[in-house]
Amino acid sequence: MNSPPAPPADSLVTVDTCLACRSRDVRTHAPSGRTGFVILQCRDCGLRFLRDRLSLDAVVSDYDMDADAYAAFTDITRPEVIDSSHAEVLERIDQLVGPKPGRSLFDVGAGDGGFLAMARERGFAPAGNELSSGAIEMAWERNKVELHKGDLATLDAGLHDAVTLWCVLAHVPDGDVLLEDVKKVLKPGGLMFLQTPRWSKMDGMGMVAHDATKGRASRITDRRMAMHHMSLHTVKSMRATLERLGWEVVSIEPHVRYSLTTASYLHSLGISEKAAERASRPVNALLDRDLFFRNVLDVYARIPG
Ligand SMILES: [Zn+2]
Repeated sequence: MNSPPAPPADSLVTVDTCLACRSRDVRTHAPSGRTGFVILQCRDCGLRFLRDRLSLDAVVSDYDMDADAYAAFTDITRPEVIDSSHAEVLERIDQLVGPKPGRSLFDVGAGDGGFLAMARERGFAPAGNELSSGAIEMAWERNKVELHKGDLATLDAGLHDAVTLWCVLAHVPDGDVLLEDVKKVLKPGGLMFLQTPRWSKMDGMGMVAHDATKGRASRITDRRMAMHHMSLHTVKSMRATLERLGWEVVSIEPHVRYSLTTASYLHSLGISEKAAERASRPVNALLDRDLFFRNVLDVYARIPG
């Protein structure tokens, strides 16, 4: 796989303190030999984050895929994993929100609307937004879900009982801004669910190779930390972020969840297509038994009522 071209310098924002706990005790790793990206590590809460981060404007223009590009992206995902994760999370949201008439759920970056369609079946009025016009078209065609185009800041305040963010936090340069916007669209006492990539044992192994070679062996760190994942959280860094912003944490739990097909995922780590196909079988067996690296955090939190 070719390295993506480095983004132009004027689309980057540079940080030097921990974005989660605000500590200044931050370790700087050698730049990636392939991309030049620099990963920082907070010694207090364990957050790993890119030093040079895409600005929000650059993120927004990157995500505006057309319908064909968006369809190509969804073709390499594992629908059975996505559906079972969606069902599991909705079950928990259902319990935490409780049976309220006219309860509503807003999904940030709602993609093809599959999650919202499932939420509608469980009695939530569905709402959501997308930056990608391709996704907005697809959500309507596949799931009859109407999405708002644009970011949360443009929406009416205090309307929703639950807000969900599937892998959105890691994509934004400043998570605080996003989490404050989520607060505004929630009703008092409202519930947020978010899933975000986690600093896992695999990342730790990748970083050992990266450090030992001063950034030359960077396949794993490049795959896991790039402009599409600008932060990898730990339970501690997630808790620090939420508490600093005034959220009441309900739970923060690591999970195994690979939404790409295993072969596509292994291929993206730099393994040849043929070898990735062969290696995907034992990895699938581990995934089926929930034994692969716990690569994401599931987070539930409330705003005070
Ligand atoms: Zn920290």
